Amino acid sequence: MRALWNQRKIRGDDVADNFDLIVIGAGPGGYVAAIRGAQLGMSVACVEVGDAPGGLGGVCNNTGCIPTKAMLESAKYAKKAGSLKDFGVNVGEVTLDIAVASKRASSVASQGAKGVAFLFKKNKIESITGWGRLAGGGKVEVEGKDGKRTLTGKNIIIATGSRPRDLPILKFDGKRVWSSDQAVFPKELPASIGIIGAGAIGMEFADVYNAFGSKVTVIEALEQVLPLEDADCSSVVEKSYRKRGIDIMTGARLEKADVGSKNVKLHVKGKDGKMQEVTVDVVLVAVGRAPIIDDIGLDKAGVKTERGAIVVDDSLQTTAKNVYAVGDVAKPPLLAHKASHEGIAVVEHIAGVGHGMVDYDNIPNVTYCHPEVASVGLTEKAAKEKGLDIEVGSFPWSANGRARTSGETEGFVKIIRDRKYSEILGAHIVGPSASELIAEFVVGRHLESTVEEMEKAIHPHPTLSEAIAEAALAALGRVIHM
Ligand code: NAD
Repeated sequence: MRALWNQRKIRGDDVADNFDLIVIGAGPGGYVAAIRGAQLGMSVACVEVGDAPGGLGGVCNNTGCIPTKAMLESAKYAKKAGSLKDFGVNVGEVTLDIAVASKRASSVASQGAKGVAFLFKKNKIESITGWGRLAGGGKVEVEGKDGKRTLTGKNIIIATGSRPRDLPILKFDGKRVWSSDQAVFPKELPASIGIIGAGAIGMEFADVYNAFGSKVTVIEALEQVLPLEDADCSSVVEKSYRKRGIDIMTGARLEKADVGSKNVKLHVKGKDGKMQEVTVDVVLVAVGRAPIIDDIGLDKAGVKTERGAIVVDDSLQTTAKNVYAVGDVAKPPLLAHKASHEGIAVVEHIAGVGHGMVDYDNIPNVTYCHPEVASVGLTEKAAKEKGLDIEVGSFPWSANGRARTSGETEGFVKIIRDRKYSEILGAHIVGPSASELIAEFVVGRHLESTVEEMEKAIHPHPTLSEAIAEAALAALGRVIHM
């Protein structure tokens, strides 16, 4: 398809604005879909509002996953600096500079955006800067700096992502009331920060600001931090955070907030029903993200929404024919890797090739705080609530040689197995390199491996991965190193 399009373009035919595929949004859902489309021979345009290359890669690359992980990397060193002497390394006085960490995070993000620009060029994808709106009948109007342009596409993918959500009593102002957009690139360190919400965003920034020296208070409405994770993992993180001096209030309700010119007074109702006042320099509101569905022409194209997100069928097609939606704008979980897989799946579906839709039951979840938390499948509580016949095995990092060499012995690997078929129903890791190790369980579950097979596969010694085999043995009642 693209070859034909290129030939016609070279001949000077009026095809410059006609595409096989138009993608709106160049985040991990959109740009990956665009590349897969080009690989499959489609002529592709990708519309992104952020200035190229700044906006390429979306929130994930520019203000989300990537710069946050760069900040967490700085936090890791900041935290470790104090214990280097235990490793026989004596350094002079350690000083921390969050502004330098922020500058580095920003440059890592710019590299990523340039990488996407390179991939677009390599794949001959037309990268169009501007705000895209559906206009119905396969048309997309792009409003850019140089005026308006109307594109026509045989297929359209909406991948507009999401933006931070604030609270009616605490609106973002970018000064005293931050969203993650401000928290990720701080100009200076606030002496104190209140964080509303102990999901991935809240817990990751609590780690960063504590490591650099802010007084951190986390306020979470539900009963545990990281409420979606297995309760045992959450309690390891909570204990670790408290040890580091982070104040954590769970089961707490933010009743009122007074935003002043110098600080913010948070009025919080605790678990015990008592009111408490927390005064902080700044407050980060991390209570979730909202899909971007406004002003993108959904009504004109007949694309329906429900509870703030675009309605899609099993093929991720919206209520309008040949208009698809992927990533945060479509349905949860709001994760970059889920968005990319949806992008690929949709394009392959359009082209009539590929492996089918996304396996929503096997999406890993990772929070990159220290200790890291990673999981896939059911929590122990969810497995019990489903009435499944389970056996749970866990193996602590304190019994793993490699973890001891690095001095990172908090946490464990936990497996929930189905007693009859020994299926891996759920796997939960809290501790060193959890974010990397979880992939072994994802592959294991994808290949429908039994817990016995996870253990039978020889893991190198001494490695962190041995804890996976030991947790498998624990779930089978024959753990060795405990
Ligand atoms: P989240 O939904 O994961 O967590 C928000 C938390 O705020 C919840 O625990 C909720 O109970 C709490 N909350 C809501 N209203 C509250 C209130 N008034 N007072 C106190 N607590 C309140 O949202 P998030 O952490 O903002 O992240 C947004 C999305 O981005 C999520 O879907 C998340 O998975 C994704 N994300 C993922 C990663 C990662 O994979 N590492 C990192 C960042 C963000």
